[in-house]
Amino acid sequence: MSALIEFQDVCKFYQMGESTVRAADHISFSIQKGEFVAIVGQSGSGKSTCMNIIGCLDVPTSGTYLLDGQDVGQMNKNQLAAIRNKMLGFIFQQYNLLPKLTLLENVEVPLMYAGMPKAERRERAKLALELVGLGDKLRHKPAQLSGGQQQRVSIARALAGDPAVILADEPTGALDSRASDNLLDLFEQVNAAGQTILMVTHSVKAASHAGRVLFLRDGEVYHQLYRGSESRESQFRRISDTLTVLAEGGGAHA
Ligand code: ADP
Ligand code: MG
Repeated sequence: MSALIEFQDVCKFYQMGESTVRAADHISFSIQKGEFVAIVGQSGSGKSTCMNIIGCLDVPTSGTYLLDGQDVGQMNKNQLAAIRNKMLGFIFQQYNLLPKLTLLENVEVPLMYAGMPKAERRERAKLALELVGLGDKLRHKPAQLSGGQQQRVSIARALAGDPAVILADEPTGALDSRASDNLLDLFEQVNAAGQTILMVTHSVKAASHAGRVLFLRDGEVYHQLYRGSESRESQFRRISDTLTVLAEGGGAHA
């Protein structure tokens, strides 16, 4: 099976005067369809750099990024926009909802840009909002919701486009712990239904919900942990132990 996302020796270097910042330093990994992967690492370890490349918002200095087997580095602007629309759904720390629109309309906006007919996009938006537990608030405005509910709308908006992979950058960053738990349970639920998810996070708890954790340090993949049959509690301890080793600068590379 070919990978959905594949990094082959990806580098992203920035020249800062005399010195070179190695934001991504020969990174290779692949993500298969149906996986739920978390990327963790300290601030400055290269998480956003990787996410921007995966999201086709930035290009590597060298190396190859294959999205669904296609070399993103060889694409022109139109091809990039097309593959982003077709393949990727984005969730950010800020929900980026349009305040004057209802929840239904918010979820419909990207479908409208994708050229979907009105009746179909309305139906899709409704289903997506029902899936995230907001089926009774279709006509509400974002300001009438809690932060956790607003983040659910942004997940509905991403899911409605039926993306091959959901990219989530610190999705629980602005949520309290209860809302975070609900959101992560929702991620597990949509992943169990087959949705591929890639999440960047600082949070050990968030990462413990994923099926696999990739640890970045200084622009390199330092280690990875599969959850396998581990309980969430046990996976939480494994992740937090690994981060401790990482922070102390010890241990060998994976
Ligand atoms: P993270 O998201 O894990 O905090 P980043 O990917 O944002 O890390 O950054 C990785 C490294 O690359 C950091 O040292 C950061 O300062 C550097 N970096 C990121 N973007 C730029 C840029 N545009 N110019 C120079 N250095 C950058
Ligand atoms: Mg970052």
